[in-house]
Amino acid sequence: MNQVDVLIVGGGAAGIAAARRFQGEQLSFLLVEASDRLGGRAFTRKLAGMELDLGCGWLHSADRNPWAKLAQESGIAIDRTPPAWREQFAELGFSLAEQREAAEAFAAFDRRLRDSPPASDCAAEALEPGNRWNCYLEALSGYINGAELSQLSVADFLAYEDRETEVNWRLQGGYGALISSAADGLPVSLGSPVGWIDRRGSLLEAHTPNGSIGAKMVIVAVPTNVLAREGLRFDPPLPEKTEAAADLPLGLANKAFLQLDRPEPFEPDTQLIGDPRNPATGAYYLRPFARPVIECFFGGAGARALEAEGEGAALAFAVDQLVGLLGSDMRRRLTPLAESRWGSEPLFGGSYSHALPGEAACRAILAAPVENRIYFAGEACSRSDFSTAHGAYQTGVAAAEAVLVALGLAHPDEDQAAD
Ligand SMILES: Cc1cc2nc3c(=O)[nH]c(=O)nc-3n(C[C@H](O)[C@H](O)[C@H](O)COP(=O)(O)OP(=O)(O)OC[C@H]3O[C@@H](n4cnc5c(N)ncnc54)[C@H](O)[C@@H]3O)c2cc1C
Repeated sequence: MNQVDVLIVGGGAAGIAAARRFQGEQLSFLLVEASDRLGGRAFTRKLAGMELDLGCGWLHSADRNPWAKLAQESGIAIDRTPPAWREQFAELGFSLAEQREAAEAFAAFDRRLRDSPPASDCAAEALEPGNRWNCYLEALSGYINGAELSQLSVADFLAYEDRETEVNWRLQGGYGALISSAADGLPVSLGSPVGWIDRRGSLLEAHTPNGSIGAKMVIVAVPTNVLAREGLRFDPPLPEKTEAAADLPLGLANKAFLQLDRPEPFEPDTQLIGDPRNPATGAYYLRPFARPVIECFFGGAGARALEAEGEGAALAFAVDQLVGLLGSDMRRRLTPLAESRWGSEPLFGGSYSHALPGEAACRAILAAPVENRIYFAGEACSRSDFSTAHGAYQTGVAAAEAVLVALGLAHPDEDQAAD
């Protein structure tokens, strides 16, 4: 049996950050990843000469984002063009007056969440009955949370909002490419899904189809949906972790990319919401980085319905919505390049976590170590930067710091804890 001091399970942003923290320390460690690539939900594909992010794309809270810092230190160019999320290209189907009304509806909703939060902690209960922009608010919740407002904890939502800095940057070379390349030189084993962790003996044993690995300590950095459906099991079981993970499900957000022939009439870095009166609408980012491409985004119930329809459904829906807004000529000018289907990927089962109503405290429950030898990391473990790649990074570093303390290789430092 192979043996290491620390085994890190899951090669996404959190697992990679944990492994990086161990570099240069006096211990042996290994990062095991089920799939044949690193990065997890950070995934850049190069298509038609463009690096396209099928998972995370925006360096949120970029002014305090450790991935932005790493990009800067590595000399990687950062694009600081502000996002166009609140704009509608040429006011198509959404006049300026309507955009203002819809924005005010969102602001009023947010004020109600803060000033008079529903006793149930369920965000949908803060909707104003009959407000004509409720569909728009649902569409936004789909993009932001990957879930309908009826599935959303107010306390959790506000914990994120209170910490985000609204500074959002991008990387032309891809956020996924930055994150996966951050693992260069680290000890990694790809194609090694951990099925279960035996914690009965003094040494932990992680079982993979390629054999078992013994470890004094393990950092578990897999998505909540994997833990909730026991895609990774513990023996004896850890029901408090399975339950916490189930109450922090991954919502669904998907992307699709369309190559755009004759892009010149479209101003780069502009946005179109397909239909602000439809909660299942797509949102379309026109010509990011001035490229001849449209990045399509689907969230929540709309994303789920399209994914259930099967491969190609999101791309076809996007083309129809864009033709409706921009004219029938567009049908010939758009070529499908790629689409994500994160809900159907067994190693993920969704896109990013949200807390169900009343369950915001589950993030701390999930993040708590077991017996000072099983540690948890991953975006869902962050109490205020969840659902992001930088939140994942922080939890990975926090878990690694806790392991170093437990092994007597570092002193406790409360400032290092992920919030
Ligand atoms: C469409 C989309 C858009 C997004 N947009 C943004 C954005 O703009 N900005 C942002 O900051 N964030 C965004 N996110 C969220 C961000 O990508 C994630 O929060 C972050 O990448 C999660 O990192 P993680 O390490 O917690 O988990 P993951 O990236 O999911 O990594 C977990 C790893 O564990 C592996 N694994 C699973 N089971 C096992 C097992 N049994 N054994 C071994 N390995 C296993 C998986 O294969 C995976 O590689 C987006 C996500 C999606 C899907």
